[in-house]
Amino acid sequence: MGLFDLFKKKPAPAPKPPVRPIVRPGMLGAQPDPKAENNFIIVILDSCRWDSFMEAAPKTITKLSGGKVEKRYTYASWTAPSHYNLLTGLLPHTTPPNVYASEYYKEDFFNYNTRLGAKGIEFAKMVPSLWLPGFLRNTLGYSTHARVSLPVLNPKTGINRDFDTFQLMDHHNDMRSMLPTLKFDEKRPAFYMLNVGETHYPYALPNEDSSMWPRISGVNGVFKKMEESIDDKGQLIKDDTQFFDADKMEQLRQRQINTVKYLDGVFAELFDLVPKNTHIIVTADHGELFGEMGYFGHGPIMHEKCFEVPFLEGKIR
Ligand SMILES: [Zn+2]
Repeated sequence: MGLFDLFKKKPAPAPKPPVRPIVRPGMLGAQPDPKAENNFIIVILDSCRWDSFMEAAPKTITKLSGGKVEKRYTYASWTAPSHYNLLTGLLPHTTPPNVYASEYYKEDFFNYNTRLGAKGIEFAKMVPSLWLPGFLRNTLGYSTHARVSLPVLNPKTGINRDFDTFQLMDHHNDMRSMLPTLKFDEKRPAFYMLNVGETHYPYALPNEDSSMWPRISGVNGVFKKMEESIDDKGQLIKDDTQFFDADKMEQLRQRQINTVKYLDGVFAELFDLVPKNTHIIVTADHGELFGEMGYFGHGPIMHEKCFEVPFLEGKIR
């Protein structure tokens, strides 16, 4: 190094990477002051297809919307992607012709101003995360909560983001047990997503003896038994259980209708406990097949009954 080199500017050291706070699940920052007036509850009747809901004709649930129930269409055919989509803020859709998707989304988001009792909500405010719980919590000052019945939505999944509390219920089919966990605070509006499982296969009421449930091999323990379905040579063991016949399918459909009738009574209890300024949406994450074209259930099925869901919303008072 020569003398003049000493006067040369030292090359700048490589910039240190910025220190980023580590965000752990469950460790959320403080909410801002509330910018919305209404509590907001979305109740998702898991697997409840449109015409099961209509045949049950629930009197209490439909008080929310003056009796009006829309037939809408879900964006996905099974629980996890459907809930993810819902939490982007996009509710089950109508299917208007000659309308660009971007225009439809814009209008869908604009409706949140009325739902939440807020001003200035538009699609652009959801960018870049496209995540309703984060927007409600970190922009509008909501406390955010999920109560879920189906283990595919458990708190370890990616669905659990920006929630203050997220609880997988002890039983997959007991909406009533969620009610004592709902808390409302006058100083801050609350958002609750309630994933209700009575309407999901096996369409069982909480007091029904589980030995009486209809059985399909594989479905009850689809995760638990995964490792038992592979033989010594690593081959998948083919299940040769008989598919449900037409009588059984009809019994199952009636069971789903019966769960909606039962849930109508649980909604009466929900409506009694929510404060006045609470906007409630009732819908489903997907439909269900009961034998049409040889299909049962939902998921890997391309059939309109898998996508038709009930949709209604409003304030109870
Ligand atoms: Zn589902």
